[in-house]
Amino acid sequence: MDLSVKLRNRSLDEARLRQDVTVADAPGRETGTLAHDFPVIITAMPINAAQRGMALGVVILLFVVSVVVAPFANVPAVRVDAFIPVLQTVACLVDLMTAGLLFSQYSVRPLRAGLAIAAGYLLSGLFAFAQTLAFPGAYSAMGLFGDGRNTAGWLFVLWQTAFPVAVLIYALSKDREETSADPARSPITTIAATVGGVLAATAALTFIASAVPAFLPALYHDTTQQTAWANAANVYLWLLNNVALVTLFLRRRTILDLWLIVTLFAWWPNFLVATFFTVVRFSVGWYVSRCFAVVASSMLLLVLLTEMTKLYARLVGSILLLRRERTGRLATVEAATAAIAHEIRQPLAGISSLGSAGLRWLNRTPADLEKARLCFASILDAMQRAEQIISSVRGLFKRMPNHRTMVQLNDVSRLVMKLERHDLLSGGIAVTTDYQENLPLIQGDPTQLQQVILNLVKNAIDAMQGRPLGERRLRIATGSDRQSAVLFYIRDSGPGVTAENYERIFNPFFTTKSTGMGLGLSICRTIIEEHGGTLRLIKSGPGGSTFETSLPIADSQQVAENAQAATTGHRPVPPLVPE
Ligand code: ADP
Repeated sequence: MDLSVKLRNRSLDEARLRQDVTVADAPGRETGTLAHDFPVIITAMPINAAQRGMALGVVILLFVVSVVVAPFANVPAVRVDAFIPVLQTVACLVDLMTAGLLFSQYSVRPLRAGLAIAAGYLLSGLFAFAQTLAFPGAYSAMGLFGDGRNTAGWLFVLWQTAFPVAVLIYALSKDREETSADPARSPITTIAATVGGVLAATAALTFIASAVPAFLPALYHDTTQQTAWANAANVYLWLLNNVALVTLFLRRRTILDLWLIVTLFAWWPNFLVATFFTVVRFSVGWYVSRCFAVVASSMLLLVLLTEMTKLYARLVGSILLLRRERTGRLATVEAATAAIAHEIRQPLAGISSLGSAGLRWLNRTPADLEKARLCFASILDAMQRAEQIISSVRGLFKRMPNHRTMVQLNDVSRLVMKLERHDLLSGGIAVTTDYQENLPLIQGDPTQLQQVILNLVKNAIDAMQGRPLGERRLRIATGSDRQSAVLFYIRDSGPGVTAENYERIFNPFFTTKSTGMGLGLSICRTIIEEHGGTLRLIKSGPGGSTFETSLPIADSQQVAENAQAATTGHRPVPPLVPE
C-alpha cells in the first residue's frame, strides 16, 4: 500500500475509532472534556436503553413470579434452617462488596450522595449479618444472641429502615454537586469516619434489639407466628420503602438509580407477605420473597461491575487512539522529511557535477566561457527544479491543490530522457523509444509527472547495473487504451522483481538498495493515483521488468477550459533542462 493511501486509511481508522469512543461514551453530567467522554465514576453513568430494558425485564419477571406464587404464599413449606444463614450470608457479601465499590467511587469523586448510598449498603450488609446470627434456628435454635423470638424481627425492622433512609438521602442529594466534608479532609479520612460511624451505629442498634427486647413491643408469638405489632411494622416498612422508591423514581438519571429502584421494588413481596399473612417464616411466600431481595441486590452489583469493565475497555481504547495518533504524527513527519531528502538528492547531485564541470571550463587556459555559462545556467535550472520538487512533495503531504494543466506525456518523457541522457550513455544502456503519434492529452501536474518518469528511469538504470554491457536495454513506449487512458510503459533488462516483492516495492521505505530510501515508487504511485491513474509492475522476471502507468485522458471540457485559461494566463510546462 502506498504512502498516501496508508496515511489516508490511518486517518479514516482514527476517525472511526474516535467516533466509536464518542458514540460509546454517552455523556454524563460531569464537567470537562475528559469527564464528558468518560463519566469518571461508574455511579454517574446515564441510563441507556439496554439497561432500561433489562431493569424492566427483571421487574416484570418479579411481578409474574409474585402473581404465580401469591395463591400459595401462606402455605407452610418445609422448614430449612440453613436457608437463612446461606441466603443472608450471600446478601451480606453482596451488600458489602457493593458498599466497597461505592466507597471507592466516592474516593474518586467525593460527593455526599455517593457517601450516603455507600453507607446504606454497609448498614444493610451488617444488619443482614447480625440478623442471621440472631435468627432462631439459623446458627442455633434460639439464635446466637437475643431473646430467640423478637431480636431477629427488630433487627429486620432496623435493617429495612436504614436502607430506604440511605436511599432517600441519596435521592435527595444526588443532583447537587455537594461534597460531604471540608475540602481539606481527604476522601479516605471521610470514608474511614463513615465506616467507623456505621459500625458503631449498627453495634448500638443491634445491642438495643438484643439486650432490651422486653422494652420493645413483641413481634412474634413464637419463632414463626407474628403479632399485630409485626403487621404494623411491615406496613410502616413498606410505606417507607415506597417513599424512597417514588422519590428516586422521580429523580432517576443514572444506572445506579435504576437498579436501586429495582432493588427497592424487589423488597415489596417481603412486606406484603408479612402484612397479609399470619404464619410468615418458612411459608412459600416467605422463601420466594427473600430470594427476590438477594437477586435484586446481586443484579445491582453485577451491573456496576459490568459497566466498570466496559468503562475501562473504552479508556484503554482511548489511550491506544492517543498513542496511535502520536505515532502516526511522527511517522508522517518522518515520511515527509525522508521524501523531500530522497527527491532533492537528484538535483543536488546534478548541481554538484555541473558546478565542478563549470569550474573546469573556467580553469582551462584559455577559459571556455561559453561552456561554463551553459553549466551555470543548468545549475539555475536544477535549482528551480529542486524548488518545484519541494513544493510538490509538500503538496502531496498537505493535500494542496497541484498545478494542473494539459500535458502531453510524450513530451514529458522526451524531456526526462534528455535529462538522463548522460547516465544512460555512461551506463552503456541501449534505449529504444516508441511514442504513439497524436497521443491524447492528460490533465496533470507536469513537474510531478516528470518526477514519476524520472524515478522509473533511474530505477531501471540501477536495476541494469549488474548486467554485462551489451545486455542493458531500456524501452520506453506510450499508447492509449480505448480512448480512455494514456499508457506509458518502461521496460528494462534488469534482474526483475521476485514474486514476493511484487507489491512490496510500492510500500514506503521498502528498498533492496544499500543507499536506497524506498520512497521513489511509493511517491510515484501516490502521484499517479492523485491524477486518477494507476502505476503497476505488469511483468517481471529474469529478463527484466515492465512498469505500466495509466492516466485518464482529459475530456473535451477540460481541454476547452484549459484553452480558455491559456488565453488568460497559462502556466507553461517548466523545462527540466535547458533546451
Ligand atoms: P529505492 O530506489 O530508494 O530503493 P523505490 O521505491 O524506487 O526506492 O524502489 C523500491 C525497490 O523496488 C527497489 O529497492 C528495488 O528493489 C525495486 N525496484 C524498483 N524498480 C525496479 C526495477 N526496474 N527492477 C528491479 N527492481 C526494481
